Formats: sequence, C-alpha cells, structure tokens
Amino acid sequence: MWHLGEVPLFAVVTATIVTIVHMQDFCQKADFECQSQDLSASAQQPLSQSVNSRWNASVLNLIQNLDHFRVSNEKLMGAFPIDEMQGNSVRTVKNCIFSESIPTPLKGPLRLVAVSKDVIEGLLDLDMATTQSETFLQYVSGGRRLPESQPLTHRYGGHQFGYWAGQLGDGRAHLLGQYTNRKGDTWELQLKGSGKTPYSRSGDGRAVVRSSLREFLGSEAMHFLGVPTSRAACLVVSEEPVLRDQFYDGNVKTERGAVVLRLAKSWFRIGSLEILSQSKELDLLRKLLNFVIEEHFPSIQTNDPDKYLAFYSRVVNDTAHLIAQWMSVGFAHGVCNTDNFSLLSITIDYGPFGFMESYNPSFVPNTSDDEGRYSVGEQASVGLFNLEKLLDALRPILTAGQQRAAETVLKGYVDIYETRIHHLFKAKLGLLGDDVEDDYIIAFLLKMMEDTQADFTMVFRELSEFSAFQLHNHNFTQAWALEDLSSHGLFPDWLSVYLQRLHRQVHDNDVRQARMKGVNPRYVLRNWMAQSAIKKAERNDFSEVELLHRILSSPFAIQSSAEAAGYAARPPKWAQTLKISCSSGSMAVELLPLINRT
Ligand code: AMP
Ligand code: MG
Repeated sequence: MWHLGEVPLFAVVTATIVTIVHMQDFCQKADFECQSQDLSASAQQPLSQSVNSRWNASVLNLIQNLDHFRVSNEKLMGAFPIDEMQGNSVRTVKNCIFSESIPTPLKGPLRLVAVSKDVIEGLLDLDMATTQSETFLQYVSGGRRLPESQPLTHRYGGHQFGYWAGQLGDGRAHLLGQYTNRKGDTWELQLKGSGKTPYSRSGDGRAVVRSSLREFLGSEAMHFLGVPTSRAACLVVSEEPVLRDQFYDGNVKTERGAVVLRLAKSWFRIGSLEILSQSKELDLLRKLLNFVIEEHFPSIQTNDPDKYLAFYSRVVNDTAHLIAQWMSVGFAHGVCNTDNFSLLSITIDYGPFGFMESYNPSFVPNTSDDEGRYSVGEQASVGLFNLEKLLDALRPILTAGQQRAAETVLKGYVDIYETRIHHLFKAKLGLLGDDVEDDYIIAFLLKMMEDTQADFTMVFRELSEFSAFQLHNHNFTQAWALEDLSSHGLFPDWLSVYLQRLHRQVHDNDVRQARMKGVNPRYVLRNWMAQSAIKKAERNDFSEVELLHRILSSPFAIQSSAEAAGYAARPPKWAQTLKISCSSGSMAVELLPLINRT
C-alpha cells in the first residue's frame, strides 16, 4: 500500500520548480475563488460559445468594401502628446507616447499566405472575400494607408534580462489604428515587420517569414487554448531580402521579409510606464495611467484617490493568472522582459517561445538565453520581478502609504499564482472538490514526468482519454506518453492513489473524461510542427501553415488530419535537435553591414 509519507517528494523537487515547490501549500487554502477565466471544462464553454455566437452574428452584414472599413488613431492622438519630429530617423524621443511613422512597403510580389477567419469576421467585421483583393494586400503589408489612418509607433522602454535597457519602442511595428466592432469591442491593429521607425535603433525594421509564421500560428493557437493573448489577422510574405544570423554564429543568410497584422485591445506594456517614470515625465505617466484605467479597467473609479493602487492590484492579480495559464499548457514565452509584458496581462510579442514537450522545468525555448533566465519554470518568478519593476515605475506618483499598500499587494502575488495553478492542475486531472491528497497527486505526477521525461501535453491528454477501468488495467500500448510515464517505479502507487481519489468523486467516468478533454489539448504548436511548416513555407508551400492553423483552432478535438500528420504522436527524432533562436526579428542584424535593398 502506498503511503504519502514514503514518497521522497520534497527532497527531490528542485527549487526552480515553482509549480511543484509550492504545491504543498496550495491545499491549505480553502475556498479560493478564481477571478479570471478558468481553464476548466466549464470555463471552456463560454469560449466556444462566444466564438459560435460571434460567427452566427457575423453571417450577415459583414463589410464587403474596404473603403467602409475605418480604423483610426484619433482617440490616441487626442489623448496624448505626439512626438514633434516626423520621419523615421532613429532618435531619443521625449515627452510623448507616440511618434508618427509611415510603414515602408515591402518588395513585391506580395502574397497573403495565412488569414484568420475568426479574427477577420469575428473581430474586424470584414467579409472574408475582402481579403482576396489587392487593396487588402496593400493595407496589411504597409503599402497603402487605410482611409484616415495616421500610423503611429509607440515609445516604451524596458528591463531586458534583468537590466534597464532605456528606450526601446516599436522598432518594427506600426499601429494602424483602433477599430470598434459591431459588438462594441475596440481592437488596436498593428503591423509587425513594417519597416524602420524612430525606435529601430540599429535594426532593419523587418521580420522574417519563419518568425512571422510562428507569431501568427502561436498567438492564434494560444487563443484557442483559452489563454489571454494578442490575435493575428493575417500574414503577408514578400520578396524583400532580410539578413539574419539565425544562431549568432556568423552564418548570415538572406531570408524573406513578412508582415503580420496583429490585434490587441491595447499594446501598452509595463515598459510604456517605465520609460515615463525613468525620465521623470510624471504628468505624462499619470495621463497614460488615467487613459489605461478609463479604457480598460472600467471597474476602477476615475475619481478614486487610490485608483493607481487599484490598477496595480489588478495587474498583479491578472499577471499571476496569465502565467499560471501559460504553465498549465506548458508554454514558455522565451523573452519575459518588461517591454514584453502587457498592462492588460495578455500574452504579447511572440518570439522564441516554445511549448514544453518532455516535462522539464528547466526548458528554455530561446537558444540565446544561456543562463535560462526565462526557462518555463522561472516564469512565475520573472513575473514577480516584472511586477516589482512596474511598482518602481509607479512609486513617484504614489503616496508613501499607497507604496506600502502596493508592496503588500505584491506580496500576495505568490499566493494568487499558487492558488490558480493548483486549480488549473486539478482541472487537468479531473479532480473535483478539495481533498487533502490533491497537492501530492499533482506534485508527484509532475516529478514522475520529470524523471521519465514524459511528454507534458500528452500525459494529461491520455489520462483524459482512458476510463478508470482502462487506467487500472495498465494497458498503455496505444498511449506513448503514459507508456513512458508508467516506466517509473512509483507509477503503480501514484495510479492507485489517483484512482482512489477519482472513485471518491460522485461524477461518473464519462463526465470526468469529457471534462478533462476540454482542458487538456491534444495538439499544441510543438517546435517541430512549426519548423516543418516553415521549411515548406520557405519553398512557397503554405499548406502545412493552413493545416496547423485549422487544427490548432480546435486543439481539444481529435481531428483525423492532425492524426495523419502525426501531431499527437511521439515527436520525430529530428525534433530533439531543433533550436529556436531569438534572431527571428531581432537586432541580430545590428552588427552586420547593411546591404542595399532595391
Ligand atoms: P523583441 O525582442 O521583439 O521584443 O524586441 C525588443 C526591441 O527590439 C523592441 O524595441 C523591438 O521593436 C526592437 N526590434 C526587434 N527586432 C527589430 C528589428 N528587426 N528592427 C528594429 N527593431 C527591432
Ligand atoms: Mg517586444
């Protein structure tokens, strides 16, 4: 018989595994209410429902003519001072939030290679037919301005890899404007890869095909996994030569430029506030905060003397929830700098991200991150660091009492994160109610997964796909991840405790399995899958991009085309040697002589 006391759990868990280390405390806290979206089966329901209702509503009256599609930066330009200088000359910008900047058209021929129908119809109210026009192609590649749109680039700073990096800003992105859709939601449309801006420093303002494909697929996949994120409307590939030293090894290659049209309710980041605080532009700091609060945090009263504190408290809470959701799907962002952390706590700036395959808290998706600062298991701690930086940015406009209160708020971050992750992992295991053994069941499973290098996504998925009876019989020949996991010497003990725990629940097996299948995806964007699509895309075959986009839009449903492609199978051998570098868009080009582009 298995006894909790016999499991050498605490001794062997490494300190970096935030997820596991704090599991022990989780269950001491009773009746916590998760405030953000829950990734449990019941919470998945609203997501699919909202997608459905959006689609039903949009069947009629979609915009057919792009001349009627109005996006505008008027509100932002009315709210904030704009950089007095125009043009894209690289400079230090002061006393403003935005600079005007015109995208630089990409060298043609251009090709629209991916479109998200869900975004085009559901968020932008556009008929899909409009995306087939030359005008659309020009709009979304920066070659032509949308009617009445004055593109802007945003001035922000940030802490990169732990250190203040000064002014950063939109070095290769242009904000086309805001669009308020028929549901009344306002989205900000941004081109990424659209050329140099005042913030390009020594970069070329471009993004290459591989990184743009990863952003398009990655952000859409995260949305359908139920994780708050920016969205991607479409992707255009050009013949613009772009130089990249992909692995920083002196091997410079010419790649092709691409532009993604991406959307967020707001693109403001922690770094948006930091730059104002660092340069002591405190009136502007207040102005930006007031705007963000008014537009995006309607529950905070604008005349509340503690409104900045209330705002901070919300960001702390929502960031903790976001990172817990990342962890629940094994997502590693890769570059968790403060300039990549949204004030709305959505996932933004997809670069060298990765979905963890074999369970490994030290998994680092970015080959340039030598020290593993942004390993998957460090993300919760890095979130705390970033929130400290946010507090530092706010300090000059907080009273001494409010600063102390904000510090207390920040101290609560770990609890919020731990409680949330506890709920998410319980949902992944189909556990209902509270049981004293839950923390052991979760932590012990993760430890066995680490020991056996079992696949994170598929272990949970396969546990969902087996009945208690099948699990009891240990017949895992059709389940490669469980087969790996079951090689662990303590697996039978864990299974017995897990099955007893399930047995104590009133719900029957089918309900448990359906619930678990609703939170444990069968398909995530594994690096090898993205890489396979990228390889074909480099030969102008975008069929796998389309396939992945379709499949990852329903990641919880078994799809025959995905099965045929092996997306739920054991990853191919070559996947183990795959490296994803940060140079996708990066400043890698900065040390290289610039070539003339014709
Ligand atoms: P990221 O790592 O993509 O979040 O970018 C960090 C900063 O570098 C941001 O200010 C970007 O706008 C800028 N940046 C990244 N790549 C380029 C590029 N190719 N050209 C100009 N700026 C860039
Ligand atoms: Mg960024």
